Amino acid sequence: MTVVTRFAPSPTGLLHLGSAYSALVAWTRACEAGGRFLVRIEDTDIRRCRREYETEILRDLKWLGLDWDGEVRRQSDHFTDYGRELDRLGDRGLVYPCFCSRAEIEREIAASASAPQAALHGPDGPLYPGTCRHLAPAERKRRIAAGREFCMRLDAARAAVAAGPYDFVDEGRGRIEGQPLLMGDFVLARKDTPTSYHLAVTVDDHLQGVTLVTRGADILPSAHVHVLLQRLLGYATPLYAHHPLITDATGRRLAKRDRDLTVQSLRERGVSPAEVRRRALAAAGRQA
Ligand code: GLU
Repeated sequence: MTVVTRFAPSPTGLLHLGSAYSALVAWTRACEAGGRFLVRIEDTDIRRCRREYETEILRDLKWLGLDWDGEVRRQSDHFTDYGRELDRLGDRGLVYPCFCSRAEIEREIAASASAPQAALHGPDGPLYPGTCRHLAPAERKRRIAAGREFCMRLDAARAAVAAGPYDFVDEGRGRIEGQPLLMGDFVLARKDTPTSYHLAVTVDDHLQGVTLVTRGADILPSAHVHVLLQRLLGYATPLYAHHPLITDATGRRLAKRDRDLTVQSLRERGVSPAEVRRRALAAAGRQA
């Protein structure tokens, strides 16, 4: 089987040493296996993503010598693909519209803190308390007809039953038992965008034939729900390899605001592509 890897940056800032390392890992794994290395622009968060950053990221990858195969896939060009797959989940009764505002969700969570059944926590904080899960179909229709904004959420409990038990393999960690409820009723399509990160990444990895997902260890919890979606949608599950995140000297992870560690600023200071690659690998080696 041909190994297919991908680097999937969100164009919310410039490529820095940490994201360059991520790209280097995916590129190297494809090269070593005589496989394919793909680049995908994850620009579904329309408020934070910028075309200028996309251009700069691609320029930096080329400069680093990390050439990719085929065309770059830009997620905002493919909303119909995500809509189609969302409909498939909807047809099976696994999805519902949620009209809650952020403030309403916070109020509900605060109120439930003193209740016997306290709010459940996920990797990113308290989980959605499920307020809209039980709305009657007629009430849903009424609110939609009235022009109320809504997002679409997965009914995780139903999805867990539909998917059955599952697991996946992370290269460094071995077989991991899937936790379908880890992120609760997570969002599949946002109020302002007809998809979410979780849905788009799962659909794209499938459509692009990705066999090995390499990315930062911060995203490992998401793999539980990506594999859940793969099971529900009848996709194959790739192999995962979550790598350590590069941190600075104080142990803080590199962020897009660390301007002096962007590939662009290193280039401007006369550092060669080979040296940037070496520094990225060395920084990762220190974390391992
Ligand atoms: N777009 C995500 C990021 O920039 C990466 C997602 C992934 O590799 O699955 O953090």
